[in-house]
Amino acid sequence: MPSTVVILGTGGTIAGTAKNAADNVGYTAAQRGIDELVAAVPQLGEAPLELEQVAQLDSKDMDYATWQRLAQRIELHLARPEVVGIVVTHGTDTMEETAWFLQRVLAPAKPVVLTGAMRPSTALQADGPQNLLDAVAVAREPGACGVVVAFGGLVHSAHDVRKVHTYRLDAFSSGDAGPIARIEEGRLRRHRLWPVGSALGLARINFDPGSWPRVEVISGHAASDGFIVDALVGAGVHGIVVAAPGNGSLHRALEPALRRAVTAGVPVWRCSRCAGGSLVGSFDDKLPAAPTASPWQARIDLMLSLLATPG
Ligand code: ASP
Repeated sequence: MPSTVVILGTGGTIAGTAKNAADNVGYTAAQRGIDELVAAVPQLGEAPLELEQVAQLDSKDMDYATWQRLAQRIELHLARPEVVGIVVTHGTDTMEETAWFLQRVLAPAKPVVLTGAMRPSTALQADGPQNLLDAVAVAREPGACGVVVAFGGLVHSAHDVRKVHTYRLDAFSSGDAGPIARIEEGRLRRHRLWPVGSALGLARINFDPGSWPRVEVISGHAASDGFIVDALVGAGVHGIVVAAPGNGSLHRALEPALRRAVTAGVPVWRCSRCAGGSLVGSFDDKLPAAPTASPWQARIDLMLSLLATPG
């Protein structure tokens, strides 16, 4: 029976340390190796685990080279018959972006479970050890698939998950969709199906990360105008995602600049800056609604679609 779980470390607060155990915010992320994090959870037991340090960074500094390497390592391990699933320890700040990138590129048939912590490993009540234990339980769950986030006792799909809190231990939410499952004492109580999708494939990203298209997110707001859009187009941006208020409404001084960008060959996708809900209704073909609700996911989708476009 295949039973190996591969745990890939990338850093984050889960691997962070503070000088004072009572300090949950004044710490340095990405200080402890994945071997130390696993050694701190003896409850992971005897079942086979393999550990690999893919990166060691604060996820606020996540970059395309790390995404590319992570996707390559995951694909390689998932192809091994003895591997049932992968866990990735990751900072919380950009976890939802990494999760969506991996889902779009790999759409794995085995589970790839991202987890992390809101408190450093030195905290009086660190949340990392329980999250890691839970994530391994999800990676071993029969029938699980796709990229998910296991955090604070919940399992979220890469499509729906967002970091919604700066400080609380239950910092992630799936919004309207709700979590896929709850993790209770190592067992899953499932509410909905595991995520499936079609993979774009590693070939899509097998280019020098320094040459990936530049797609920027801008926001619409009171007193918006075309200043930033014209500056981006002038600087050679390849795509723009606009996080617009409400149901994707555009300030009358911003919209003409976005149309000028499209005329100049820069695709513009619109999203809502609201924390919940998707754009509802039909939109102008030139300034279409993005395929995903979150501007940060849309930025990834637009970038990946431009990677498929020659030249
Ligand atoms: N800045 C940290 C990171 O994203 C925050 C965290 O992990 O909670 O790596």
